[in-house]
Amino acid sequence: MPLKLTVDADRWRKHVQTFAEATPGLVPVAKGNGYGLTLRKLAHQTEWLNSLGTGVDTLAVGTYNEVWEVATRFSGSIYVLTPWRPYSPEINPEIADRVIHTISRPEDLPLLLERQPGARVILELVTSMRRHGMTPSDLWPTAAAAREHARFEGITMHFGLDGGSLAEVRAQMDAVVGAEAKTVWVSHLSANELAQLRAAYGDITFRPRVGTALWLGDRGALTVTATVEDVHPLERGYSYGYRGRTAMRAGHLVVASGGTAHGIGLEAPLGDTHLRSRALAVARGGLDAMGQSRSPYTLDGKALWFSEPPHMQESMLTLPAGARVPEVGEELEVRVRYTATSFDEIILES
Ligand SMILES: *Cc1c(COP(=O)(O)O)cnc(C)c1O
Repeated sequence: MPLKLTVDADRWRKHVQTFAEATPGLVPVAKGNGYGLTLRKLAHQTEWLNSLGTGVDTLAVGTYNEVWEVATRFSGSIYVLTPWRPYSPEINPEIADRVIHTISRPEDLPLLLERQPGARVILELVTSMRRHGMTPSDLWPTAAAAREHARFEGITMHFGLDGGSLAEVRAQMDAVVGAEAKTVWVSHLSANELAQLRAAYGDITFRPRVGTALWLGDRGALTVTATVEDVHPLERGYSYGYRGRTAMRAGHLVVASGGTAHGIGLEAPLGDTHLRSRALAVARGGLDAMGQSRSPYTLDGKALWFSEPPHMQESMLTLPAGARVPEVGEELEVRVRYTATSFDEIILES
């Protein structure tokens, strides 16, 4: 049995809708593995959100390769977050009018417009992240060219997760006003920060791009489970695994679905590899003192340990003596990073 994501569909939809209604100008982000939920599901959901009258008329995707998959399921505008480059793939002409490009270097604008006259563009201002973007002095002439030859859709700034973004947006607003932009596309600002910006710049529309908090904001709506595929009793001194390790104590080996191919890694998510907890485990004479690591699998709410690094499809877990021995076919809850996990099955329960 596979690694499975079960979605409590009503609860999930309710969160998504409530979030959209509380977030004016929301631009959902669907990229990569669709935050574990697939791009197609997020595109459908965005179409539904828009149909509710929430004004969600634009969906952001990570790359040009993701455009088509959402374009067939969502009828609004599709904003590509990765900046356009001369090597970017051509857009299917059927949907070219719905695509909004990000321009992060002045020299890319005329090249894009040669290929797609009148293209829709957002210009990117560099932030303290220094990932992509122009300086204000490059922005103004590029904005003038965009106003004249393209459909100028505004300015984007992308911030890290650590706060301080509000001050940075404020510092950049002169550049925005100088570029005669009417819309500013931002990320990782709180509702309160957005409200402050709107109060200070009444003639500018702020559009927050949100992925994680929208799609994964109610974790209780999502359950990830693996299946116990085998259980073997282990005596002290038995050998097991690819590396022929020797059991240091009696217990059980549990083989469960989910491995590196699914994105199950050695590192337990949510900061469990924190140095302090490692040190504590060593002090306790725990399994990691023997070179083993805590796994994201849990049994009866308790974390299990990897017997050895996860395999491609499966993981071998060590059950200490005295623990309840699960049955073959039983499900174990797994804590994963949704953005880095591919599930074999996604089940919607309503
Ligand atoms: C991924 C991304 C977002 C959304 O980030 P979350 O933390 O998932 O909300 C917003 N803006 C840009 C440019 C992104 O790449």
